[in-house]
Amino acid sequence: MKRIDPIPTNLGPEALLRSLGIVAPEDIDIEAIAFYSGLRVRRRRLKCCEAMITGKGNRGIIFLQEGSMATRQRFSIAHELGHWATDRGQTVACRSSEIGKFLKGNEVERAADQYAADILMPWSMFKDACRKHPRLDLNAVKAVASEFKCSHTATLIRMIDSDLYPNAMMIQHHAERGRKWFRAAKKVPGYWFPRDDLDVDSFAFELLNDPTARDEGFPRKIGADAWFNTKGADRYEITEQSFRVPDEGVVTILRLHEAMIGL
Ligand SMILES: [Zn+2]
Repeated sequence: MKRIDPIPTNLGPEALLRSLGIVAPEDIDIEAIAFYSGLRVRRRRLKCCEAMITGKGNRGIIFLQEGSMATRQRFSIAHELGHWATDRGQTVACRSSEIGKFLKGNEVERAADQYAADILMPWSMFKDACRKHPRLDLNAVKAVASEFKCSHTATLIRMIDSDLYPNAMMIQHHAERGRKWFRAAKKVPGYWFPRDDLDVDSFAFELLNDPTARDEGFPRKIGADAWFNTKGADRYEITEQSFRVPDEGVVTILRLHEAMIGL
């Protein structure tokens, strides 16, 4: 039987999609794309990590933690495909804390995450989907996430990066570890750096500390000083919407006042 040579993955994510004739989000079958790139996917109970890739020449295997959420598995496959594109043939093991977090200071993992976002949510299709939602709130995140079959967190990061919501910021808190990380739209000045502590007035505080509290159904107004120590923060009102993410704590979407970003 003749073996078909894999498509070279050094095409870059968008070119790879084009070469496979994929033009709509529902056609992004990441396991099939991995297969065309010379990779098979196996699900196992892994002790070392959430996902790993190992290979020789232009063929390899991605091992995934079995039983994890479908959106998580999808992102993990795409992340490993990212490693394959840059370091083909190497064995790489990735912990859950290294996948989908766009880790600062770890360029290898960050590049794999970026590759994953670029192939699962290619800009041309993704921005078209976002334009149906002039406001970045949880409903918009849910709608776009279901279109691209990605997690709410991964989708929100991409929406923040899209440049379509210039005053948006997201912050993820973990109950035990305090402030975890944040991501802001490019136009948000660096001095709007979120507070390390969580203000008791914020809804995120309630969600983290009261197991009976429910996610906010809509964004609500709050003084910017609840989220920022920056001088003059008390002059502005912003909106906050917080929601729980299983095993990951609480995610907050902030919409800054336009004057805070010079609009
Ligand atoms: Zn990795």
